[in-house]
Amino acid sequence: MNVSEIARRIPEAVERLRGEGIDVLVEDLEAYGRDETEDYFETPGLVARPRSTAEVAAVLRTADALDLPVTPRGGGTGKAAAAIPAPHGMVLALGRLNRIREIDAQNRFAVVEPGVVLQDLHEACAEHGLCYPVDMSSRGSCMIGGNLATNAGGERAIKYGVTRDQVRGVEAVLMGGSVIRTGGKTSKNSAGYALHHLLVGSEGTLGVITEATLRLLTLPPYRKALLAPFESLERAADAALAVEAAGVDPSALELIERSAAALAEDMLNERLPHADAAALLLVEVEGFHEGRTEENRDRAAEILLHNGAEDVMVAPRERVWRVRHAIAEAVKQLPAYTSVDACVPRRSMPQLVHEAHKIAVQYGLEVICFGHAGDGNIHTDFIRRRHEDDSWDRNVKSAVRDYLRVVVAFGGTITGEHGLGLLRRDDLPLQLDASTIEAMRALKNAWDPKGLLNPGKILPPL
Ligand SMILES: Cc1cc2nc3c(=O)[nH]c(=O)nc-3n(C[C@H](O)[C@H](O)[C@H](O)COP(=O)(O)OP(=O)(O)OC[C@H]3O[C@@H](n4cnc5c(N)ncnc54)[C@H](O)[C@@H]3O)c2cc1C
Repeated sequence: MNVSEIARRIPEAVERLRGEGIDVLVEDLEAYGRDETEDYFETPGLVARPRSTAEVAAVLRTADALDLPVTPRGGGTGKAAAAIPAPHGMVLALGRLNRIREIDAQNRFAVVEPGVVLQDLHEACAEHGLCYPVDMSSRGSCMIGGNLATNAGGERAIKYGVTRDQVRGVEAVLMGGSVIRTGGKTSKNSAGYALHHLLVGSEGTLGVITEATLRLLTLPPYRKALLAPFESLERAADAALAVEAAGVDPSALELIERSAAALAEDMLNERLPHADAAALLLVEVEGFHEGRTEENRDRAAEILLHNGAEDVMVAPRERVWRVRHAIAEAVKQLPAYTSVDACVPRRSMPQLVHEAHKIAVQYGLEVICFGHAGDGNIHTDFIRRRHEDDSWDRNVKSAVRDYLRVVVAFGGTITGEHGLGLLRRDDLPLQLDASTIEAMRALKNAWDPKGLLNPGKILPPL
């Protein structure tokens, strides 16, 4: 359906939804037209803000009846332009479904609605001596539904896995309004297709998640951190692999190129030690026994020194994390940037960061690397520091494309945790062959035959 036809049907959708008692916004919708991805914006025609699964079902029934595109939305912190609405289409904002329905401490599960903010879940779990181990810098605003829909990873994935590893069950509404429940509070489950795993990472294109059952862990009380400077990014990457392989079981292993840290330091007006180093490694270990946790930390320190660290210091945890977490925000303040969150088999990671810099030099661009070194998931941001730098407009697309080709040649994935959205969908054929993409398309057609649910995301246009 063309854009003006969509716009023409919006008033009827508003009337129907309000008739069902659903809160609908039709003005001041700009904030719902973007997420945290650079350069993407689209004005929606209406924003529906349901409070229950039944209201979500009513929204999807209306979308189906009027053939209107509808885009689910959580916290809007996504970095793949996956929450951008279709022009004049509907946004289904899930922030009001924000109840933690249950913390089942005995079975160690949480049952939550999709609009629960990640940090609120952390705090609720901690009150029971439990933890939900997925964590990331956007914790204060991203929502559990968005985390599931993107299969979010984050900084503790090296030890505890990504969002998919925590999800044991899902309630979801399909296009047209039917409600499905899949999985539940069991550690094992072989009853048919694991539809909850299919919905995880589906970026709102298959169904709208209205409840998630998540496994919880006992909260480890001891956490120790180290900071180590290196003379080169590649050496730091090599040392990260050595720590990862040594059995000290780090709960975070973050590589921070010094120029990336400097952007955050300037923004925060705060300095980390070792301003002259080329790269820093942050290593964190946690456990239930203080002595053993310290032993692990000390063993990690030995490995770092043995693998080229110029120094190892017990990290001022809060300061280091503050700087690490501020990098994305600092990058956003530059005249332009584009982020790639590729993930490669661990062993290829040092070579990958080397190749990123080689490509940047070749195209006259600047690049910074940082992120989850322990699992090969490196954020590579091509940045434009000055507006007058005209090699940006000419070259950045080719540089990103060359970089993605290298990622795939290493056996990697073009996105480790942010998803494809609109940002990377056209690059998917670099990684997957035509028959695999066709199998995905067949699935999408089966669940959403009219293609109304978050259209244009994940799959490249035919
Ligand atoms: C500073 C910063 C740091 C970040 N760090 C990380 C990181 O370390 N690791 C990481 O993985 N990500 C990171 N991100 C990206 C982002 O926070 C995650 O992708 C997060 O999971 C998005 O959640 P959200 O609620 O904001 O989703 P949104 O951006 O609102 O939506 C993302 C996708 O989920 C879909 N969606 C949302 N809710 C539902 C639902 N209930 N049912 C179906 N589909 C739904 C949307 O349609 C869209 O496709 C970071 C972002 C920022 C800004």
